[in-house]
Amino acid sequence: MIIGGGPAGLEAAYNIAINGYKVTILEKDNEIGGNIKKWVKLFPDFGDAAEIRKAFADKVNKGNIEIQTGVEISELYSENEKWFAKNGNNVIYSADAALLATGFEAFDARRKEELGYGIYDNVITSVDFEEMYKTGKILTAQGTVPKRIAFLNCVGSRDEKVGNHYCSRVCCINAVKQATEFKELVPDAEAYCFYMDMRMAGQFYEELYRKSQEKYNVNYIRGRISEAAATFDKRIQIKSEDTLTGLPMKMTVDILVLMVGIESSASTTELSRQNGINGEYGFAKSLGLYISDNLTKKAGLFLAGSCKRPLTLPETVADSRAASVQILNYLKLN
Ligand code: SF4
Repeated sequence: MIIGGGPAGLEAAYNIAINGYKVTILEKDNEIGGNIKKWVKLFPDFGDAAEIRKAFADKVNKGNIEIQTGVEISELYSENEKWFAKNGNNVIYSADAALLATGFEAFDARRKEELGYGIYDNVITSVDFEEMYKTGKILTAQGTVPKRIAFLNCVGSRDEKVGNHYCSRVCCINAVKQATEFKELVPDAEAYCFYMDMRMAGQFYEELYRKSQEKYNVNYIRGRISEAAATFDKRIQIKSEDTLTGLPMKMTVDILVLMVGIESSASTTELSRQNGINGEYGFAKSLGLYISDNLTKKAGLFLAGSCKRPLTLPETVADSRAASVQILNYLKLN
């Protein structure tokens, strides 16, 4: 039984099913695919998100995989070595083992009121940017082509005020990707990215970062925007400090994009709590980081993907395969 039909859940379902076991995927949305549904192109190679999503969906299009969508699990528990999941209508699903693959949620930018999200129409999030990019255009709320855009990193991550000390790991490279995409669409516009550190630790990230500067002229400013406010003509005035020069700065932009971080999903937090495997920041806690990262202290309950911590898509797939091996071993031995 796999709770979550995103990349982690789908990859695990495939690997377990081809070994001859029946798998049920329980997905809360009406479609499988998880967060990948919101994306157009993936970093760092601008891979087509729809194609990748289809590849995952094709993998689980197998006889012994049952997919139940629109099923939100509210209780997860074990009795007599069996696992049970109950939804809001008290329908109970049971299995010999359960995999938590409940993914992540994007940080709700309204919690950073000073940045104006939900108040000013031209303050959007990286998730909204992706939605707009699907239309092939990036426009202001007034329907004009922006002449200047700013991206703000670390919104909801590395931030004591909101209680998230961790780095979400994906938003720096996502800012580089989205700034590049913006400049491809509107080459004459200016793009600025405000950052604390540019964390370019993945393969090809550094190259993309460099290309965004050399080929697309994206400007990177080391500094954190402290405040955003609308001007009379509905542009956004931002206040920041350039921490490399030590000087305060003001800038007016047509769109401010908040690079929202990764947070634990509500299901992860709740189902982990019920099973005593709740870790820091609401994420699920594995038995150990090195050789038992897919196991939990509950026999038969496994973890895969970003229900544990922020992971990239390739990391999620690898982690899910590792979880599948652990589950297959467990099913064979029990
Ligand atoms: S990946 Fe970059 S933007 Fe995201 S939290 Fe880490 S440092 Fe901030």
